[in-house]
Amino acid sequence: MALAEYVRAHREQFLEELIAFCRIPSVTAEGDDGWEAARWVARRLEALGADVAFWGINGAPPVVYAELGPANASRTLLIYNHYDVQPADPLDLWETPPFEPHVRGGHLYARGVADNKANIVARAQALEAWLAVQGELPLRIKWIVEGEEENSSPHVAQVAAQHGERFADADGCLWESGYKDSAGRHVLYCGLKGIAYLELCSRGAAQDLHSSWGTLVPNAAWRLVWALATLKAEDETITVEGLMDHVRPPDPAELEHVRRLPFDAAAIRERHAISEFVGGVDGPDALVRHLYAPTCTICGLCSGYGGPGTKTVLPAHAVAKVDFRLVPDLTPELVRDLVEAHLRRRGFADVEVILVDGVRPARSPVDSAVAQAAAAAARDVGGHEPVIYPNMAASGPMYDLCDAFGIPAVGFGVGWPGSNVHAPNENVRLDDYFEGILMMAAFVERFAQGT
Ligand SMILES: [Zn+2]
Repeated sequence: MALAEYVRAHREQFLEELIAFCRIPSVTAEGDDGWEAARWVARRLEALGADVAFWGINGAPPVVYAELGPANASRTLLIYNHYDVQPADPLDLWETPPFEPHVRGGHLYARGVADNKANIVARAQALEAWLAVQGELPLRIKWIVEGEEENSSPHVAQVAAQHGERFADADGCLWESGYKDSAGRHVLYCGLKGIAYLELCSRGAAQDLHSSWGTLVPNAAWRLVWALATLKAEDETITVEGLMDHVRPPDPAELEHVRRLPFDAAAIRERHAISEFVGGVDGPDALVRHLYAPTCTICGLCSGYGGPGTKTVLPAHAVAKVDFRLVPDLTPELVRDLVEAHLRRRGFADVEVILVDGVRPARSPVDSAVAQAAAAAARDVGGHEPVIYPNMAASGPMYDLCDAFGIPAVGFGVGWPGSNVHAPNENVRLDDYFEGILMMAAFVERFAQGT
């Protein structure tokens, strides 16, 4: 096939290009302004003939927006990626420096290569190969590459509100990244959980006191612990009043689909060195819970004295950081309001509830045209049946860009279980990378044809 030939003939050049992009230390969460990476992406897409704009909001790292392909094409594909990467710490655990990309043992090591720079470059190179071989793209592409994903995408909702009419007509969206599982199957996903990150604060006396005052003076740490204990029962059910009423259960078809997905419960327990899952679930029920249940997690507690030895102190302040992973139809604001009302009703009106960060959940059908095109591409290129998840247990701004406009989404990419995403020695396997270019081309063809 001519396209595969083109990719084979350009292997060296394509790899060099990916390496050049990975050299840019685009850690916008630590103060990089994003422009070097944004300009790199813009130039790369302009080389494909794209019209490119930068969407800026209040000096935040710019969003690169590109349109390419025939304006009268019968199908339009939205693509979402991000050019920012996670901070590289802890540096001493990297075998080679995170921003000096290094090839060894058939892998390319660099911060951000799997999450998600290799996907951006592989997708662009697939379109380059298509144009070289076929002359014209078979569909219209609208491509959003933002620069704050690793920092919870604080401006994406605003960008979507301001510019949504530019891409709202898309027939489907290809999400940023994905991976192959340990059996070598492509893993596709059609949604993401949301998140409500709360801080719960209680205050007692004007300042920390001698603990002998425990007879008479309220203790902020106890107040907070008692309040927290009302949010979840020991059997792991979330007891925030009304919260579970907003959880949309899977319909019978979804349930059947998920129960058939591969899920090695024993291997997961072994990896985490635990004897059982919470709530005692196991087998397919555990996967159903993992994908469809919200969580309520105490991420951190801070109060009083935690140093060596003793300090007999009665704390005046206590803070808990609590996150809820959200499934449809929960929203961050709804969770905050429910927790606040719940605490007030239980006599904890003194505990302040602050919504620090929030992302809405997203989910689209596993049989949408865009998901089926991705599945067909995985079969075409990988020669096997992919694994399709209704949603992942992690979060991202999919709701604002897709669900809000009724655009179904699917994610796939060039990672593998050992990609060390967000960790030292992040990497992709070069074979997966070059296969990813072919899979993108196959996906474009399938989606344009409507199969
Ligand atoms: Zn990430």
